[in-house]
Amino acid sequence: MAPAANDNIVIVGAGIIGLNVAYVLAQRGFGSQITVVAEHWPGDTSAHYTSPWAGCNFSAISGADRNALRWDKLGYSHLAKLASECSKEAYVERTASKEYWDEDVPYEKIKHMSEYLDDFRLLPLNELPPGVRFGIAFTAVTINAPRHCEFLYQKLRYHYGVRFIRRKLPSIGAAYLSPSTEIVFNCTGIAAMTLPGVEDANVFPTRGQVVLVKAPRVKSISMRHGKDYETYLIPRPGSNGNVVLGGYVQKGVSDGSTYSYETQSILDRTRDLDTELRDSPHEVLATFAGLRPSRVGGARVERDVIEVNGTSKVLVHNYGAGGTGFQAGYGMALDSVKAVEDELKRLHVSATKARL
Ligand SMILES: Cc1cc2nc3c(=O)[nH]c(=O)nc-3n(C[C@H](O)[C@H](O)[C@H](O)COP(=O)(O)OP(=O)(O)OC[C@H]3O[C@@H](n4cnc5c(N)ncnc54)[C@H](O)[C@@H]3O)c2cc1C
Repeated sequence: MAPAANDNIVIVGAGIIGLNVAYVLAQRGFGSQITVVAEHWPGDTSAHYTSPWAGCNFSAISGADRNALRWDKLGYSHLAKLASECSKEAYVERTASKEYWDEDVPYEKIKHMSEYLDDFRLLPLNELPPGVRFGIAFTAVTINAPRHCEFLYQKLRYHYGVRFIRRKLPSIGAAYLSPSTEIVFNCTGIAAMTLPGVEDANVFPTRGQVVLVKAPRVKSISMRHGKDYETYLIPRPGSNGNVVLGGYVQKGVSDGSTYSYETQSILDRTRDLDTELRDSPHEVLATFAGLRPSRVGGARVERDVIEVNGTSKVLVHNYGAGGTGFQAGYGMALDSVKAVEDELKRLHVSATKARL
């Protein structure tokens, strides 16, 4: 019986989606059988690597379909647990949040969220800013996106024994690194649009620009969802008072540049929304733009089959998280792992036999 190989399971992509899949599998004892192959790793920056640019918080911005509702709920409890058990190490914090809608209030979604969010309440009319129709308050979670990815990378590599390889694959088929590779998870984000063997025409970029400021007096999240704008302030955990200000949601725009007129609009809108920002000194530190991996019909979490050198192999797609990869990523990972429960059982049995 051959010993378990570290490429029995290959995860393509080291963004928050691939890292969450690795984390879920590693917690179930598969760490030494996993290889993560990625062009970009935690600590890198690129317009082709979305995860470091996220705001990043849990909010009502996600979709209202059954999957999105379920992934949000699973993500909230997972992130809240990290915030209680290892907040400093994981760069995740519980943070007070207020969200406002000018119109198009997603009542059904809010009703669902109200059933599990801590400290949830509807805001009375006299607490709403002018022009706002509806508002809620709750305890959300904030995530320092680049640092949280680095936390997961360190944990996976040094605690669970996951192997990482830096490589740009020419196709999804190339992820079957050796004959022992049984399962590949495709967590390639925006690249799912063009990667040979995937080429999903439903995937498209949604550009966002954000501004990082030092504003230690801003301690809570404010978000205003308008007809054609999104404005938000998100304190960044473990950053000594840095706050991410946003934003833009530009569907179909694949430009990774930043623009000074957008920075100005973000500063104007966030100062209007939050009196703490308006009334206290704050220094602009940086501007970023990222491309959310959006998908018509929502994220694809699905088992597939692929022919590799004349053999049928298992492929699990997990991409298209749009603007919610951090809040939905853990739930998406649980679903994609569940889709290969039978294969995992087989891998577990052969690894156990090989040890005897
Ligand atoms: C401005 C902004 C604000 C956001 N705010 C939030 C927020 O508040 N909350 C939230 O939940 N989400 C937020 N998001 C969304 C979140 O960032 C994304 O959903 C998430 O980062 C997507 O992760 P991913 O792993 O799918 O993709 P990525 O992070 O892009 O990772 C893709 C990985 O695949 C690898 N890869 C691709 N092709 C290949 C190849 N051929 N060979 C090898 N490797 C390959 C890449 O190198 C990379 O490692 C925000 C996004 C933006 C831009």
